[in-house]
Order: sequence, then C-alpha cells, then structure tokens
Amino acid sequence: MKFSDLNIEQKIVEALSIYGLEEPTEIQIETIPLIQKGFDVIGQSKTGSGKTAAFAVPILEKIDERITKPQVLVLSPTRELAQQIAEEFVKFSRFMRVNIACIYGGVSLDPQIRKLRKAHIVVGTPGRTLDHIRRETLDLRNIKIFVLDEIDRMLDMGFIEDVETAIRALPEEKQMLFFGATLSNDILKLANRFSNNLEFVQTETHVSDSLLKQSYFEVDFRKKFSLLVHLLKKTGKDKAIVFCNTRREVDLITKNLQNNGLSGKVSALHGGLSQARRNSVIRDFHAGRFKVLVATDVAGRGLDIDDVSHIVNYDIPQNPEDYINRIGRTARAGAEGEAISLLSERDFDSFQRIMIHDLPIEKLEVPKIKRLRFERDSYNKRPRKKKAPQTMNENKIYSSYCL
Ligand code: ADP
Ligand code: MG
Repeated sequence: MKFSDLNIEQKIVEALSIYGLEEPTEIQIETIPLIQKGFDVIGQSKTGSGKTAAFAVPILEKIDERITKPQVLVLSPTRELAQQIAEEFVKFSRFMRVNIACIYGGVSLDPQIRKLRKAHIVVGTPGRTLDHIRRETLDLRNIKIFVLDEIDRMLDMGFIEDVETAIRALPEEKQMLFFGATLSNDILKLANRFSNNLEFVQTETHVSDSLLKQSYFEVDFRKKFSLLVHLLKKTGKDKAIVFCNTRREVDLITKNLQNNGLSGKVSALHGGLSQARRNSVIRDFHAGRFKVLVATDVAGRGLDIDDVSHIVNYDIPQNPEDYINRIGRTARAGAEGEAISLLSERDFDSFQRIMIHDLPIEKLEVPKIKRLRFERDSYNKRPRKKKAPQTMNENKIYSSYCL
C-alpha cells in the first residue's frame, strides 16, 4: 500500500516521499479515509506509529490556502510535542502555501500574535491557546477542524478543563479528531461528549485475535493462587508475566510461587525496587534466566520482550487501558500468546469495565486442583467468614459505571 492509494493529493504524496514516508502505517490507512470523508474520529495506536501524519495529511488536503485565517486548531499537551506536530505540518506542506503557527507558554506573546494573524493551522498547548483565545488574538471563526492529540496525556496532566473551554469557543460546525496512545473510559466519555458521530479506530494494541487467545476463570479467591500455580506449571519452558495490582501483592505472589515449586524461576518487578534491580530483572527475563515475571502495571508498561507466551492477570486491573497494555506484552512479533484473567468476586467490577469493550474473552472452567498453602504477609488478615459464593452475571452492571 502506498500513500497515493489513499487518494491523497499528489503534492502531499511527493512531500511525504521526500521525508521518507512512502507506505502508510496501519493507523494512517484506517483513519485517513475517515477523515477525508468528514467523520469525527478517535484514533488509538501505540507511540511512534505515525499518528501525526494520520491527521496532518488529510487536514492539509482540507486547507483553503487562499484564506489566511486559522482553519485548524490542534491541541497538544507539551511544548515539545506541539513543536513536533508543527514541524510535520511544515514538512508535509512543502509544496503548498500554508502557514503554521505554534503557540506555547514561557515565551512572549507578540511574535505569536503576529503569526496567528495569517496562520492556516494553529498548533498549541492548552494554556497558551486559551490565553490567545481570551485576548482575542486567535480568531476561531474559521476553524473547521479541531484535533486533540495525546488525549490520554492531556487527561493525565489535568488539562481537561482548558481543553473543554477551548472546544466551547469553537464554531458549532466542525470536524473533531482525537488521537492517543492508550484508551480509557474517561477518554471515550470525553470524546463522546463533544461528538455524536465518532468513528473509533484502534490499532496496535497488539491484540491480534488470531494470535492472542484471551480467557478468564471465575475462581474462589482461596483457590486463586493454586490455580495460578497450576497454570504456570502447564506453560512449560515458556515465559509468563503475572500481573498484580499492587507492589505488596507482587511480593506476596512471588514469595509464594517460590515456596511452591517455582523457586529460581520467578522474579518480582515493581516500582519499589531500585532502578538497578529493575534493569537486572528485565535483563535476566529477556535472557531467559527465569520464566515467570510477577509485575505491577507501571513496571510492566512498555516491556518489550518478544517471547512471552502467557499473561496472567492475577488481579484484574481497574482500567481497561491497563488490561490492554498487559495483554499487549504477549503475542508480539507474530508469535502466539495467551492472556488469562483470574477473577474472584472483588474483580467483577473491574472485569465488567473491560468487557464493555467487546474483547473476545472466553470463559474457561476451573479444573480440579488441590489447594496449596498460601502464606500471607503480616499485615494481611486471613479471611474470616465464609460467604455464599457469587458468580459473575454478564448482564448485571456491578457499579454505577457507564460509558
Ligand atoms: P505517534 O504520534 O503515533 O507517536 P509520530 O506521528 O510522531 O507517531 O511518528 C513517529 C515517526 O514515524 C516520525 O518520525 C514520523 O515521521 C515517522 N512516520 C510516520 N508515518 C510514517 C510512514 N508512513 N512511513 C515512515 N515513517 C513514518
Ligand atoms: Mg504523537
């Protein structure tokens, strides 16, 4: 597939080619036609997958070069990212007459004001952009496309109110584009609040249905650990990552696995360890010196180890985003993988939030297993009363959560 196959104007295809962009990436293939057709789009793909060109290219096609008024507003969380986006616009518009203004805080307003007067495209950070809107030095009347890039980081960094204020200042009729590396319910909620014809494009979650098998067990929490050991013994020589929600749980599971026949085959990875220790754990896991890594989400994020065959969610993450990140650690580089979630009652709410995303997760029957001894740490009390067992009802909403 070539950029020209996407019906992109020749002058843009040529510019792309000068900068080494010949074949569109997956996110570009999926989103460019939608943006060309005028849909609002929310696009998610991993960092480095080419999201900037995914919106910059179709946007450039929609610019009316004769009107030297801002027609496009792009918001980005940091100055560096805003500058990168502006630079890409400059590159791709090499054979066009398009003015791009990049506005961010920490520098004086006047040069920016001059640029804004004749800019076709404005790329800015939320604070400074609002500043210009309030001073009326950014004319929004001709804006026809609004882009929110790195929407996940925007939310993390607390820019949400600024972003909403900016959006409310825009003309009613406009195309809205949202891009980010991860998705969460807050992001979907936000995007849906401002758009009612949102097209959702998700690539590169590494979830290839044919290669990645996702399943879950509903298991009494007193048997959860025994089931984990049973599953890990079945994986043979393959590498597995066991995810837990807290550091303490990671340590506890690691210790208990070592006491239950996996001594020398397990290591813990979490933010409480020194950087040097974390590096050596990752190196050893890479090299295959042990086969089970027990990790928290933060520690496991971005781990790029090709031959991990199994992901076990010992706890279910609170955010679907973390689930996606976890399972993305397996089935990489065309290999097969399995992601197994162990659910007890306390996980039902979190699991419900994941199931909303329509992921192909199959329920498996818990095999007959012997209950193993599980040593708690001193802070943790033993469960006292035996409660009537509950099962997960797929139709029941376990919390007031909704999209
Ligand atoms: P993201 O925003 O998804 O993190 P970027 O848009 O910053 O990714 O792109 C990452 C790098 O990949 C940039 O240097 C960009 O020029 C390059 N790139 C983007 N699309 C292509 C492509 N189709 N072919 C080759 N390189 C590309
Ligand atoms: Mg980007």
